[in-house]
Amino acid sequence: MVVIGAGALGLSTALHCALAGRSVTVVERHTAGSQASGRAAGLFKSVQADELRTRLARRSIDQAVGFAGWAGVPLEVARPGSFLIARTAQHREFLRRELAQSVGWGADVREAGRADLGRIGYYRPGGGEFALWCPEDAYIEEPLSLVRAYLAACRLRGAQVLEHEPVTGISVTDGRVTGVETATRPITAPVVVDAAGGWVRQVAALAGAPVPAAPVRHQLLITAPAPEVDPAGPITRVVDAAVYLRPARGGLMVGGFEADPLPVDPRAQPASFSTDDVPLDLGVLRAMAGQVAGEVPVARTAEVAEHRGGLFTMSPDGRFVAGPVPEVPGLWVASGCNGSGFSSSPAIGEALAEWITGGAAPPGMEALSPGRFGPLPEDALVTRGLWQYAHYYDPAGSAPAAVTSASVRNRD
Ligand SMILES: Cc1cc2nc3c(=O)[nH]c(=O)nc-3n(C[C@H](O)[C@H](O)[C@H](O)COP(=O)(O)OP(=O)(O)OC[C@H]3O[C@@H](n4cnc5c(N)ncnc54)[C@H](O)[C@@H]3O)c2cc1C
Repeated sequence: MVVIGAGALGLSTALHCALAGRSVTVVERHTAGSQASGRAAGLFKSVQADELRTRLARRSIDQAVGFAGWAGVPLEVARPGSFLIARTAQHREFLRRELAQSVGWGADVREAGRADLGRIGYYRPGGGEFALWCPEDAYIEEPLSLVRAYLAACRLRGAQVLEHEPVTGISVTDGRVTGVETATRPITAPVVVDAAGGWVRQVAALAGAPVPAAPVRHQLLITAPAPEVDPAGPITRVVDAAVYLRPARGGLMVGGFEADPLPVDPRAQPASFSTDDVPLDLGVLRAMAGQVAGEVPVARTAEVAEHRGGLFTMSPDGRFVAGPVPEVPGLWVASGCNGSGFSSSPAIGEALAEWITGGAAPPGMEALSPGRFGPLPEDALVTRGLWQYAHYYDPAGSAPAAVTSASVRNRD
């Protein structure tokens, strides 16, 4: 089989298929992890908006923490836990709902008091917070370390990873996938997985298949080292500001979700377009830091040591797009990351490999099928993807009926 794209999702799928005994070739246009996966904040979050995503997220934390045991390669994972904090009545209510449902889905989540917030160090409680403590939550300091671990484990299991080799065609004979064309050679394969991240749609289009995922910009910054940030301190998410924070390189990482997000369609860009060309705007992050400046002064006062960004692939219902493409047997998709593709890659790859090699969808995975929306006009795809992005921390909150997958099906 061939996997197109050596990001977290492609490499994890390749690794799990190789572990299941498949012969796997990964074909990457640039270098492994050079696009979204190498820019991620590295955060793993156990609290998710539905049961399936909670299961995938928690399974992924287990797999990341136990990586050496099942993949045979060491991987360092920081496990400081995380706080979810709400400062408005609406978001306090939202977190109460998240607490009840996440506990019901098996996650270890607890209400946190003011004294608990004192442990964060870089956060000065204002007094009106409602907070949750999520001890399972973790992060990987440098996202490329997960990519490198996947790469090493893939090679250990005999999977081939070809870099600097763009896929330029997908061969289809009698309606079935038979392989790919790269810039230098044809490769025969009965199974092809499109894990091309922000380029997932143009890669699928090589086989005439639609994929419901809209790329949207996401960015973060890391401050210069600051004494108020304990490198062993927890992750913090201030949900009403849609801001996340964690210790990074002795400073503080500050990232968040723009209320007015920027769609970026690589299909409308020159062929050479890469993540390096995604337009970044430090002003957006400074405004986010300003929203939490009362509680986290260092987010605004410390010098910026790094500013990076890339593309999320947003789906109309905020869930992964993973599974077989109904229109083209043999073609599979691992995408629709919705901002969690890095951290859910271990479990998504595992589930896809089970589906590909075993022939049956693992429990719940059919809900992520690339065909679940039916035909979807481009503007609806983008509008709904942007809505999901802007409501990352409260997707269930006030979703207009028009953006639920059921209504998408009804409408179209
Ligand atoms: C700033 C930022 C912070 C983030 N933080 C987090 C986080 O904390 N936690 C989390 O879970 N997620 C996070 N994400 C999201 C996460 O990075 C993505 O969900 C994940 O990396 C997606 O992985 P991928 O393999 O689909 O995409 P990518 O890593 O982009 O990989 C796709 C690969 O396909 C290759 N490709 C494209 N076209 C072709 C072709 N024609 N032929 C061959 N190869 C091709 C590309 O070159 C690329 O390497 C963040 C993203 C950004 C941008």
